[in-house]
Amino acid sequence: MRSYARLRKLHLYADPSSKTLNPEEIAEYLREKLPALEVDVRQEFFTYHAADFEHVAPLLAAARIRNPLKRLDNRQPLYGEVEYEKSLLKNPSKRPLGILYDGFMIQAICHSLLKREENNLSEAHIIFTGRLLATYGEDRYHIRVIICGYPSLISTTGIVEGPAKPREFYIATTHTAAQLTPLIWEEMKQQMRGRFIEYDDERLTEVMKGYVLQAVFYQALGEAFCDNKHCRLYNSHWQEEVLEAQLAGHELCNKHRKMLELLQV
Ligand SMILES: [Zn+2]
Repeated sequence: MRSYARLRKLHLYADPSSKTLNPEEIAEYLREKLPALEVDVRQEFFTYHAADFEHVAPLLAAARIRNPLKRLDNRQPLYGEVEYEKSLLKNPSKRPLGILYDGFMIQAICHSLLKREENNLSEAHIIFTGRLLATYGEDRYHIRVIICGYPSLISTTGIVEGPAKPREFYIATTHTAAQLTPLIWEEMKQQMRGRFIEYDDERLTEVMKGYVLQAVFYQALGEAFCDNKHCRLYNSHWQEEVLEAQLAGHELCNKHRKMLELLQV
C-alpha cells in the first residue's frame, strides 16, 4: 500500500450562500469519526484568506465555461464578468446561479491562496462553494458535486444540478414543456418532493457529511469512491442514489470502515 502523510488537521470552509448547510455539525461528525483529527470551521474561503479581489476576480471570470461542449481556452474575461465576480466576492451569501465553472481551474486558484505553513498533506482544506463546478471528459463538461484534490471543493449547487433526477421528472418535463406554467412546475415538484435535493434542502448537511468523507479518503488514502450503493463513498449519478447512500443510515461499508480505522493508528 502506498504510504500517505498522516492527516492531522482539517479545515472546513463555510458557504454562506447555502442557508441549510451547517458546517459546525459536519465538523462534529468528523470529530466523532476521527477523534485524532483536529477539525476547524472557517469563514467562506476567499474571505478567510483575505484574497485580493482585484487579482482573484479576473481569474474566477476566466474559469467560466461558455460552451459546455468545448474545453476552456485561455480567453480574456469580459469586463462585466469580472465585475460580477467582484460582487460575489464582496457578498459571498449571494448564490451564483446559471454559471458553470471549470472545477480544476477554481481548485488551482484556491490552491494559490493557501498559506505556506498550511500547505502540506498533513492538513486538509475542504471548501464548500455555491459555484457550479464541472470537469471536461468525453467531449463535454460534466457537473460535479465534488472535486477531490488539494484543496477539495464541494459544490452546494452541484448536488442539486449534478446527479440526475428521477426518470419520471424528465418525462413530465418534456410532456408539459409547451404549457409549463409556474403552477404546473410547482405541482410537479410537489409530487416528486423528497426524491431529489433542492436548493436550501433541509437534508443538505446530512448529505454533505458523506462528500466530506470522500474528500478525506481521497487525501489520506488516495481513494474517494466506492461501488457499494450502501456506502457513503458511493459515486452517485442519480439523485435517488445520493439519498440512498447518504440518508438511509448506512455509513461506511466494511472495507471503508476498516480503512478509516487504519487512518487513526
Ligand atoms: Zn465503501
